[in-house]
Amino acid sequence: MAAKIPFVHEMDFEYEKPQQVSPLIRRLVAKNPGPFTFRGTGVYIVGHGEVAIVDPGPDDPEHIEALLKAVEGEIVTHILVTHRHMDHSPAAHPLAARTGAKVYASTIPPKPSECDALRLEAGDDHYFTPDINVEDGERFSGPGWTIEAVFTPGHTTNHMAFALIEENALFPGDHIMGWSTTVIGPPDGDMTDYFNSLE
Ligand SMILES: [Zn+2]
Repeated sequence: MAAKIPFVHEMDFEYEKPQQVSPLIRRLVAKNPGPFTFRGTGVYIVGHGEVAIVDPGPDDPEHIEALLKAVEGEIVTHILVTHRHMDHSPAAHPLAARTGAKVYASTIPPKPSECDALRLEAGDDHYFTPDINVEDGERFSGPGWTIEAVFTPGHTTNHMAFALIEENALFPGDHIMGWSTTVIGPPDGDMTDYFNSLE
């Protein structure tokens, strides 16, 4: 008998408009709806005044402008990226260039693939390279917020979730999604790693 998973399909939001979802977290939904993103990538702004941005999203000029507008008058201190997929990482460096923040992610390389064209079509941001490597357990902080990296390979070899200590909250990237099960696409995706990370 299949277990019924209570996926959440109701979402109250407006594209590219920041929305306060908890005292420390604002969410902005990028306008890139699709079979892997549902309504669009959830981009998170953590803190007030000096902020971290988690998963800046697609490299779409309108999206990047909306994100810059959302943090107008604030200082972006960290750009944290959960993994190298086209819906999560490509805005990181354009946003870094505009804000002066550094890009943080795991530099663990993808597993070798026989076909790079296939890999790109599958949504990998193959050439994504952060400014600074992130290790499991590493912490980043700003006024009133502390984020800890939680290494969660499986969806990709470099997948990091980020825990917001003050709110006991987790940004799980594509490790766990509210509206669907995730996709584990070999060779970069690995089901054994995925289950170990769930544990
Ligand atoms: Zn992904």
